[in-house]
Parts: sequence; C-alpha cells; structure tokens
Amino acid sequence: MSDPAIELRGISKSFGAVKANKDIAIRVMPGTIHGIIGENGAGKSTLMSILYGFYRADRGEIFIRGERTDIPDSQAAIRAGIGMVFQHFKLVQNFTVLENIVLGAEEGALLTTSLGKARTLLKQLSEDYELQVDPDARIEDLGVGMQQRVEILKALYRQADILILDEPTGVLTPSEADHLFRILEGLKREGKTIILITHKLREIMEITDTVSVMRRGEMTATVKTAETGPEELAELMVGRKVLLRVEKKAAQPGARVLEIEDLRVVDGSGVERLRGISLDVRAGEILGIAGVAGNGQSELLEVLGGMRSGTGRVRVNGDELDLVGPRADARTRRARGIAHVPEDRQHEGLIMDFHAWENVAFGYHADPAYNRGLLMDNDALRRDTERKIAKFDVRPADCWQTAKNFSGGNQQKIVIARELERDPDLLLVGQPTRGVDIGAIEFIHQQIVALRDAGKAILLVSVELDEILSLSDRIAVMFDGRIMGERLPSQTDERELGLMMAGITDTDRGHTHAEVEGNLAHVHGKVG
Ligand code: ADP
Ligand code: MG
Repeated sequence: MSDPAIELRGISKSFGAVKANKDIAIRVMPGTIHGIIGENGAGKSTLMSILYGFYRADRGEIFIRGERTDIPDSQAAIRAGIGMVFQHFKLVQNFTVLENIVLGAEEGALLTTSLGKARTLLKQLSEDYELQVDPDARIEDLGVGMQQRVEILKALYRQADILILDEPTGVLTPSEADHLFRILEGLKREGKTIILITHKLREIMEITDTVSVMRRGEMTATVKTAETGPEELAELMVGRKVLLRVEKKAAQPGARVLEIEDLRVVDGSGVERLRGISLDVRAGEILGIAGVAGNGQSELLEVLGGMRSGTGRVRVNGDELDLVGPRADARTRRARGIAHVPEDRQHEGLIMDFHAWENVAFGYHADPAYNRGLLMDNDALRRDTERKIAKFDVRPADCWQTAKNFSGGNQQKIVIARELERDPDLLLVGQPTRGVDIGAIEFIHQQIVALRDAGKAILLVSVELDEILSLSDRIAVMFDGRIMGERLPSQTDERELGLMMAGITDTDRGHTHAEVEGNLAHVHGKVG
C-alpha cells in the first residue's frame, strides 16, 4: 500500500484557553476525496490552517507522502504541493483572473513575461480540468462560483496535488455546487488528493471516499463513506442521536392571515428590489421563500417587519398595514401581532453588549407586564427571561451574560425565544438556522412547527433549500424581486427549485449548462 498523501500525528493547538485541536491523528490516502465534518467550532479550519502553514501547531508532526515535513508558512505548504481554497476567497478584486493566478508565483521573473507563459498554462489547466474561466475578466465582475474556480486554478497553477477546500459550497447555489463536485471528481481521476471540509452531511455522502468526524477539538472517528450514513455521522458530530428529518403532520391551513398584493420596494439608490410581490399565508401554514441571497427576500422581510417602506397592499387578519409613514414602524407591527426573527441576528436581532435579559425584552419593553408606574420592572423581566432560557435551552443558562458571549446558535435561540413567546399571529423568520449547529437546528425547527400547529401563519425565508423543503407547507421561489412560481414540496425537488432560483421557470424545455450558468452569474452579479 502506498504512503498516505498526508498524515498528521498528535497535532494540538490552543488559542488562549480554547483547545481548538487536541491530539489529532488523521491519514489521507492519495487519489481520494477525504471529508472532514464537524459542527461550528469543532476545529476543522484550525487543523487545515496548520497543514497549510497558516498556524503553527503547539505539538505534533506532519508527514507528506511518507516524509516528515515542517510547514512553517504557506510557501512551505505550496512547495510541498498543498493548495487551499479558503472559506473567504483571498483574490484581489480589481485584478484580472490571470493576474490573480500569477500573483505571488512570479519567481522573480518580470510580471509581463510570466503573464504570457501563465496564459498558456492557464488555458491548458482550464481544458484539462473543465475549469473554464475568462483569463481577462476582473474578479469583481465574476460571481462567487467563478471566483472559487479561480482559487482552484490558482492552486493547480502552483502544481498542488493535494487540494484543501474549506466549506466550499456555503456560497453556491445547488447547481453550482453540483458543478464543483464534478470538478473535484475530475481532479480525483487525475490522481489529485482532495480534503473537503463541510458541515453538510449530504455533501459528505455524495462525494467523499472517507470521512473524518471532529467534535470539540477532537477527531472522534474516521470511516469509509460507503460504510456509514447521515444518522451515524450526525451522532458522531453532536455526541447524541439527532432527528435529521423535521417531524410534522400535514398542515391544517385556516383563514388568510397575511395577504400581499403588488408589493414594491425601492432601495436608497433607486433600484427596485421588490417588483410587485403577491402572496398569501394562512393560519396553520408555513410558506417558505426559496432563492439565492440578494433577490429581494431580505427586503420582503424588512418591509413586512416595519424596517423599510414600500408600496402596494398588505393586510394582516384583514386589516391593512401602513407601508409608509410613522405607523409603518416595527413597534406598530408588533402591536398588530407580527413577530420577526431577522436574518441578521447580530445587527438587527440583538444588542450585542446588552445582557440576555435585556435582549429578551428588546422591542417589548413598553409591555404592561414589565412596567411598574414609570419604571421598568427589571425583576419581572429577569424572571421571565429565566423561564424562556430554560424553555429554549439557551446555554449557558445565565440571563446576566452579554449577548456577544453566547455562541451563534444560542444567540439565535434568544431571538427565537423572544419572538415566539409573544404568541404572534404571524411570524416572519429569516435564515433561522444560519451558522447554527445541527443539534440546535433540530430544536429551532421543532419550535417553528409547533407554532404552526398552534394555528399561526409563518413566512420563512432561507437560502438553505434543505430547510425550505423540509419545513415548508408551500414554497414560493424568488428571483430578481419577483415570485417565479409556487410549488408544493411533494411536487418538486431541488433541481426544479434550483432552476427557478436561477430565473428559469420552464423546466420542461431543457436548458443548456451555459444558459443556467449565465443566469447564475447574473444572480450573483446582483449580490455584489
Ligand atoms: P471550525 O472550522 O470547525 O468551525 P475552527 O477551527 O474555526 O472551527 O475553531 C475552533 C475553535 O478555535 C473555536 O472555538 C474558535 O473560536 C477557536 N479559534 C479559531 N481560530 C481562532 C483564533 N485565531 N483565535 C482565537 N480562537 C480561535
Ligand atoms: Mg471553519
């Protein structure tokens, strides 16, 4: 048997009191796709940053193709044939593709001469690995899928035969992710070794040969993908059994709670972000809005939540809402029975320097229950918060912690506790589980379904198609400020929804890859 492409032994790394990697051992065989999975903060990025020379381990050894290798910096990693595609791309935005690829690899030659050679080599690489990209395009004009391609080409240009990708699909649409996987399979056929970091079980099952699981800084298991399944992996990640599927009964939709007709929003720079939206949400129903980020979903939640103005007609329980003027604000909306879990919990959902109990009162402090004469009844507020913290399993269960000291998942639980416990008629909820671990995702999903079963209307916005498909009773797809169409979850799939998200409605006609890519680039162009 050949030597592992990479072997790590006894790797440990601390940041102050945080033990990010504890005595990690892993062997990655050449010519394989090796997945590393784990919840947020498990230590995946730290481990790979050590391998790429971005951090130095406190202890431990690295072997590359059987040889002990010191990797003090990224140049050493590149010399050892390792390339890395980071979670946040490191491309120079106003340079061209070609310039970015050559940057840092000129080897002292004049940039102009190396550019000529680079163009030829780049063309060859693009052809060999089906990584088509325009060498003269500026990075700022490319969508994220294309930028990722440039990062991969950059690594290949440096002759990497071991490629590390850190959460590469987080920013991609389903069809872009598919394309990336086909590229990775091609690289594997050419004998490259690939390490894929992800927290998505489906991706691990689809593309990897072997998977290693990390939990709280430790490597808890390495198994052959063919010999495991999502349930087992989830349990290894979280340390307990997790329900991966949302358990819910069929919806019992009642009266129309939210009625939207021809809703329009123009942003500060005069661009129309909502171009005539019409929708209904009934009591006891979850309407999911699918779409690539930046197609108007945020503006829809914001105008309904009273955070920006618009035109058109919106009725809640038959009463028309003001869309402009002093009564088009968040407070008036809350008084009308509308709760809002905003997409950006750190900026809009919480005040990060305030205590948990203050955040639980946020927006509702005028409530008579919390007021004694002219003063707020802080003791009543804190008692109320303690009850909510217990019910929503917020950890640590300490109402004196400031919001910024909770993990992302627990911050989200604080916002959800506040909004759901108001017993609203209509819940607006954006990206409820963004950055949240799978254990907490299960819990948040159960709370949303429970609210639905209590007869409330729920408008859910999420860029995670899995989440839309498993929670929604009805799905509307948004593209470019419009609703492309509505589907029942039982009558559609990721493929069809993915095409609608790219602005293509007529899925029967059959579209070439280039057409879809063109639309996707258009979508991403709008995201900026
Ligand atoms: P993952 O990639 O699995 O989400 P990370 O490797 O990014 O996890 O983080 C592991 C732990 O180390 C987390 O608790 C994180 O907060 C901490 N950590 C990571 N990088 C740093 C750093 N540069 N300084 C301090 N703490 C860090
Ligand atoms: Mg990470």
